[in-house]
Amino acid sequence: MRARGQEETDVDGREIAAAVAAEAAYMEDVLCRLVAVPTTLGNEEPGQEVMSEALREVGLDPVDVPLDEAMLRSHPAASPFSWDVSGKRNVVADWQPAGAGGRSLALNGHIDVVSAAAEGLWRTAPFSPSRDGDWLYGRGAGDMKGGLAVILGAVKALRGLGLAPLAPVQLQSVVEEECTGSGALQCAVSGLRADACVVTEPFPGALSISQVGVLWFHIDIAGLPAHAGDAQHGANAIEASFPIVAALRRLEAELNESPPVPYDAFDHPINLNVGVMRGGDWPSTVAAECTLSCRLALYPGQEVAWLQARVEQAVASATGAHPFLAAHPPRVRYDGFACAGTEIDVAHPLVTTLSASYAEIAGAPPELVPTTATSDARLFLQEGIPAVCFGPWAENVHAVDERVNIPSMITAAQVLALFVRDWCGLADAGGAT
Ligand SMILES: [Zn+2]
Repeated sequence: MRARGQEETDVDGREIAAAVAAEAAYMEDVLCRLVAVPTTLGNEEPGQEVMSEALREVGLDPVDVPLDEAMLRSHPAASPFSWDVSGKRNVVADWQPAGAGGRSLALNGHIDVVSAAAEGLWRTAPFSPSRDGDWLYGRGAGDMKGGLAVILGAVKALRGLGLAPLAPVQLQSVVEEECTGSGALQCAVSGLRADACVVTEPFPGALSISQVGVLWFHIDIAGLPAHAGDAQHGANAIEASFPIVAALRRLEAELNESPPVPYDAFDHPINLNVGVMRGGDWPSTVAAECTLSCRLALYPGQEVAWLQARVEQAVASATGAHPFLAAHPPRVRYDGFACAGTEIDVAHPLVTTLSASYAEIAGAPPELVPTTATSDARLFLQEGIPAVCFGPWAENVHAVDERVNIPSMITAAQVLALFVRDWCGLADAGGAT
């Protein structure tokens, strides 16, 4: 029996690891419930209902952190968005401390997922979770409903041992990670002002210590419709996009010429993606309009406004000589990600403490890695809350047959539970819940 009270309890890591392992079936069950709801942009609410239910199962009281449009439109770290966010909510739950003197912690994951991309190519329906061996398949299984289940499993196990932290721990399920980061920003601004944040994105055996920024831009290209038989009297907006893409590829090549440390470890750290093209409306009509929606990355330290100017220059360079577009220049719009890269010092106590917790389970420290994608960790860092990503092993995120490795979820949850001990301190829960 542990002594009841507010004294820090030194709990053996093996006892915690065993308690977490005993929650494996629970974690998988929650994961399946989460994957079964297709929480694409604008459809996150059924997922938040599952998370509310799961937080109650863990013994916590979930509360809403609604998106505040006025704040999100005016905050310097926010990304622009053209859609309605009224009624959207993050779901958070505070795990109350049993004592004092520890460091507080936010455990964060996002509920939104990207679309299935090409449903017919999947081995099983993307929103019907299916297990095969050690792997659980489904859109969002890895990015990052597995991570949400890891948070729940770690906290459930510690609570089951009758333990509570010595500082507040807030569990957060946020919306809009895949398009703006508005959900995480709302939590960083109006959630727990935590001493650290762990985002359980799929970083197995690794902590993210640097991430690129990301810019979404949309290019509206005008054309002049004409009958295809008189095409020379029209201007084809779809074909006008080809030299624009070529100019953007030249910009991309330039951005990859001499990557700064630590991105010099990558062959091609900055990727342009022409993700969506919409244009024209009839095979026998010269296309009157075309819109390209693109994603381009930037290094930490570079300004979003600088990259926006470079994109606009590239578009202008491709259209200046075009007889129709010179008089009707394409419009570049910003809607979605417009965010800078972020870094955390590898000597930060969050990094060293989580590394030690990891090593206690895995026998060796994790890698400290840069990433060529963005994550919600940046919003916490930009708000002065130290943050890293660490989580289970996933494959094919944003692709077909996305999957998460179930044993790696258990390992990640064990590490996270030890980290709660090592970062916050643990005590007998006593009357605290
Ligand atoms: Zn993610």
